[in-house]
Amino acid sequence: MVASTKLMERILFKIAKQWIAGNDINAALESAKYSYKNGRQAIINKLGEYDKSKESIEKAISEYNQIISSFRKWNVVGAISVKPTQIGLSINNKTCLANFERLVVTATKAQVFVWMDMESSEHTDETLELYYDLFSRYERIGIAIQANLKRSYDDVKDLVRQGAKIRLVKGAYKENSKIAYKTREQVDSNYSKIMKLLFKEANEFGIATHDSKLIDEAIKLSKKYPKKFEFQLLKGIRDELKPQLVKDGFATSDYIPYGTNWLPYSIRRLRERKRNILLLGSSFIQSHKV
Ligand SMILES: Cc1cc2nc3c(=O)[nH]c(=O)nc-3n(C[C@H](O)[C@H](O)[C@H](O)COP(=O)(O)OP(=O)(O)OC[C@H]3O[C@@H](n4cnc5c(N)ncnc54)[C@H](O)[C@@H]3O)c2cc1C
Repeated sequence: MVASTKLMERILFKIAKQWIAGNDINAALESAKYSYKNGRQAIINKLGEYDKSKESIEKAISEYNQIISSFRKWNVVGAISVKPTQIGLSINNKTCLANFERLVVTATKAQVFVWMDMESSEHTDETLELYYDLFSRYERIGIAIQANLKRSYDDVKDLVRQGAKIRLVKGAYKENSKIAYKTREQVDSNYSKIMKLLFKEANEFGIATHDSKLIDEAIKLSKKYPKKFEFQLLKGIRDELKPQLVKDGFATSDYIPYGTNWLPYSIRRLRERKRNILLLGSSFIQSHKV
């Protein structure tokens, strides 16, 4: 049992490698440099979540600070993206706020943008509170909002009223049907509804999806409502589409995760596509062949 779990993990790592830059900061910066050479910006995320250890939280903050100060040296334009539970939300809100503020202060000095990733719905209120608090004092900070949550349209309306910077995603976490849309049609339709609101009433936002239908819709909306926005895509996904978006003149960013804590992120990516699960299954079967 333990042996087959380990084998499964090894196989999953082989598949997950396409989505992750590597183990350390240099690997992330190399990947960011590759994006930049290809006309795209980078959003770097150190993998990690639900951390309560003060030591590893400090290590994460120190690495983010190193990344912020390395962008110019490496000649890349980039941002960082941080999960609240990676830097203290699992201890308490106050710790997380203080840690986020440390990052935002360094980033602001270096003119680097900070994105706040959105985690599962138990943290939505706390994450919004953190965001409002920081955004009232710092400008270059944005928040991810998930179209699968029923509350999100109203959240976006409030955020937009404050001039907030939003990254719109479909949502990567399993949620209860009381609070979340469960079918693809419902999620896509809410994404589309929120995206229209962004194009009409917001400025400086991220359309973070790999879904061609929604990307085409965003392109149409951008002609009608010229706004400062960018497409954001994950490293290793829809790589064939990225050069086309750049060629067509759209600002495009690659979200680049790095680090050794790759399992939760990879499982979320795996779940998103049936073909990935099939690939995992067939690799597992192959590895058992004599
Ligand atoms: C830049 C960025 C930041 C994100 N930040 C957050 C966040 O903070 N919080 C959060 O909850 N979620 C976040 N997500 C994840 C997001 O919520 C979705 O889970 C993820 O993007 C898949 O949804 P989709 O919009 O690509 O549409 P889907 O309908 O899932 O996919 C559309 C098409 O994209 C391709 N595709 C999608 N996923 C994969 C995959 N794993 N492997 C191969 N092909 C794939 C396929 O061609 C698929 O048909 C982020 C996504 C991006 C792009």
